[in-house]
Amino acid sequence: MSHAPHHSSMPIGLGEYQCSLGQWEFSADAQVEGISRSHIAQALAADASPCRVDDVIATVSELVANAVVHAQSEMKVLLEKWQHMIVVAVEDLSPVPPVVQEVNHLAESGRGLQIVESVSDDWGFAMLESGKCVWAGFALGCDCADSAH
Ligand SMILES: [Zn+2]
Repeated sequence: MSHAPHHSSMPIGLGEYQCSLGQWEFSADAQVEGISRSHIAQALAADASPCRVDDVIATVSELVANAVVHAQSEMKVLLEKWQHMIVVAVEDLSPVPPVVQEVNHLAESGRGLQIVESVSDDWGFAMLESGKCVWAGFALGCDCADSAH
């Protein structure tokens, strides 16, 4: 069992940790495009519906963009399978917790977490020994009828 530090603080709704589906490391000036859509789609193909793949990709983009702007540190993106959800986590070296700002359509900054909040089924963050981890969980299925995604 190789559990990352943030696992101890994960909510019970995720069920048991199952396995890693992918892991990517970036320098401080990471481009969001550094993880390609196809990498994530491929990693999730066996476990999640296509709709959820889109949600996960949108979330990774926002979390990485947030880390680039606010943490300005190296970061790690983790894609994990839990019993009830797919979890994506972004770890950076900044000790400052993420802030969800009030809706302000003129503000670019802070919008990222609102997007994460709206497309994910659960999300949160954990402080690590050095830095923090922001994670989001996605139920494996979607509400689409049959295979009409
Ligand atoms: Zn669907």
